[in-house]
Amino acid sequence: MKILLCNDDGYQAPGIVALHAALAAFAEVEVIAPEQNNSAKSNALTLHAPLYVHRAPNGFRYVNGTPADCVHIALTGLLDYRPDLVVSGINNGANMGDDTIYSGTVGAAMEGYLFGIPAMAFSQVDKGWAHIDAAAQAAGDLVRRIGAHSTPGGQAWLLNVNIPNRPLAELGAPKVCRLGRRHAAQKAITMTSPHGETMYWIGGAGAAMDASEGTDFHATANGHLSLTPLSVDLTDHHALAYWAQGLSHMLAGGEG
Ligand code: MN
Repeated sequence: MKILLCNDDGYQAPGIVALHAALAAFAEVEVIAPEQNNSAKSNALTLHAPLYVHRAPNGFRYVNGTPADCVHIALTGLLDYRPDLVVSGINNGANMGDDTIYSGTVGAAMEGYLFGIPAMAFSQVDKGWAHIDAAAQAAGDLVRRIGAHSTPGGQAWLLNVNIPNRPLAELGAPKVCRLGRRHAAQKAITMTSPHGETMYWIGGAGAAMDASEGTDFHATANGHLSLTPLSVDLTDHHALAYWAQGLSHMLAGGEG
């Protein structure tokens, strides 16, 4: 199995180092990851600046760009083969519910998926890297088992996985989940710069709002790995009929 490994915390982050070690036990793994922390960069691509690729002493390659940049250039110019799987992570912190919209970890995996390659994003629920080796073992095990069932050239899929920070023996079996929902983010934090200007810092993510049974929040709170298949089509299919009917009514109503 040939795996392209990326992340959003940067190529030196403990999460990608641990996951690389776990994956390299059974696969050919190429690391192409951001030089700097690119958390919350989602699917962003760098279109108005050049990207440079360098190789670190440990063999990892790093790019002065976003997670999606890394996967994009890997698949469109850097690699002379097509990987069987794109893996992203392990992220420093949860990517559950609404987090998936902002996540650079998910963005890197999604870039692979958009190129028709099966992809998996891995995140540890709590920040700080506690039990990262256990998380890497669990992630590696999942990649090996799932990878063995994917057919070359078959339909691509995109999986989002969150792993509780626990010793390996205390990790529950992976559960297939829907995404939960968070409350809106916390208030921005303001400070005064040395020049007297107001600085705004983006506030923390909101607490879980829908953490009911069947969600990623619920599964991980109970010690399980959460596994959510993601789609990319943002169409609100349930709302198509409402808007088709409502819009013609609104347009027929003139200026109101
Ligand atoms: Mn991150």
